[in-house]
Amino acid sequence: MSRRQVVGGLGAVAAAVATPALAEGGQGTAAPMEDPTTKYPKPPYPAQSQPWPGLASRMNPRPDHGETSYKGSGRLAGRKALITGGDSGMGRAAAIAYAREGADVAINYFPSEEPDAREVLELIRKEGRKGIGIPGDLRSEAFCTTLVAEAISGLGGLDILVSNAGRQQTHASILEISTEEFDWTMKTNIYAPFWIIKAALPHLKPGATIIATTSEQAYDPSPDLYDYAQTKAATMNYVKSLAKQLGPKGIRVNGVAPGPIWTPLQVSGGATQKKLVQFGGQTPLGRAGQPAELASIYVQLAASDASYANGQVYGSAGGSGQP
Ligand code: NAD
Ligand code: MG
Repeated sequence: MSRRQVVGGLGAVAAAVATPALAEGGQGTAAPMEDPTTKYPKPPYPAQSQPWPGLASRMNPRPDHGETSYKGSGRLAGRKALITGGDSGMGRAAAIAYAREGADVAINYFPSEEPDAREVLELIRKEGRKGIGIPGDLRSEAFCTTLVAEAISGLGGLDILVSNAGRQQTHASILEISTEEFDWTMKTNIYAPFWIIKAALPHLKPGATIIATTSEQAYDPSPDLYDYAQTKAATMNYVKSLAKQLGPKGIRVNGVAPGPIWTPLQVSGGATQKKLVQFGGQTPLGRAGQPAELASIYVQLAASDASYANGQVYGSAGGSGQP
């Protein structure tokens, strides 16, 4: 997918309002329509597995995070953002989009994800924005506190917190889930956001936003994701309670609920090989989504023109997920 195709795709929607950004590159021609059913690879996908947490750069096909397609228009000019799991998947798509919208971006990732993170930081810096990499294990409260402090000192403040990192491992039976494994999932998906938000809150000013990545699993859990799915329900729930708690302070809290998206999480224990090969095939669009297809949602929720969006969960699941 070329940048021109995507810019053109946006043009089709926005042509009626003739924005200056489009006038620049659009030459007044109609943008090509894009069929969402054929825009990206469809199942069957090649069977593949990687040791956790996996690398996007080793996936086949490589996920699209908007590297060559996302075009910004200054929607987040001067904002300072921290994104957990910013090396790959939805976090990477958000990081690229934020930088292209004019934000400085700090990303956190697990230390073994350095190769993916380096690619993202390079893309951020290519936009002339500050890109800060802060590796570390989110299961540690001490690290979560340090992460926020380092992001704030590196960026010179914090306006947007994207709590996106997550752990998902498939287990056919609850009997296969050890206490250690259960704890790992809870620490990553529930405790880390709690620790990070607590550390960040004293620094957030009116206009700041918190965005959490929940899942369609919060609403319609799969039988093999007993522990993971309940953490996503908890995420959906904290979005709604914190929105009520922080709304009066002018801080908005929202969530994104993806459906089946082609990311390292799925090839490093998140899905069975059987599920992976047919991933997303059951959706009305007949394929898995790509992280790039969700980037604009993270931008929208962070942008100040979404100022009445608070306690909302925006879905993107190809037609069959919730909300
Ligand atoms: P991903 O593997 O690209 O991202 C997950 C990231 O979490 C990793 O890159 C890693 O940096 C981070 N992480 C996990 N454990 C960590 C730890 N202990 N310390 C530091 N970092 C850690 O996959 P993704 O699918 O983009 O996942 C992003 C979010 O999207 C997750 O919260 C996931 O639950 C959610 N989600 C994914 C899907 C999907 O189908 N891929 C669907 C719904 C929701
Ligand atoms: Mg990763």
